[in-house]
Amino acid sequence: MDRLSITINLVRRGVQLETYICPLCKKTNETIQHLFINCVVVWDACERWIGTAIIRHYSILSHYHHFCLPMLTKNGNHLWKIMWVTIVTKTWAHRNKVVFRNGIVDNVEIFSLAHIRR
Ligand SMILES: [Zn+2]
Repeated sequence: MDRLSITINLVRRGVQLETYICPLCKKTNETIQHLFINCVVVWDACERWIGTAIIRHYSILSHYHHFCLPMLTKNGNHLWKIMWVTIVTKTWAHRNKVVFRNGIVDNVEIFSLAHIRR
């Protein structure tokens, strides 16, 4: 995760930026924890999408493990973990579209690409 070109990592590498603010919510500095765990643009939409509230952890690993539910079968947990990876991947892709291609922040777009189809 330290290799991602997220704002805080770019600053550590000496890259000068116009702003350090999260490009999605524009409310706080962009960090890995913020973008992938706490950004309201991402996770409010995600909670609406999956239909349940998600506990906001302080580390990516804890957040990932939160998607392992003891009451589910192995296949059920596998599906939840795929969902987590999909959310993170689509969030990163959308963030990069906003930052590098002047995309418009659209939480519906993030999750429209992530719908599971039969
Ligand atoms: Zn944000």
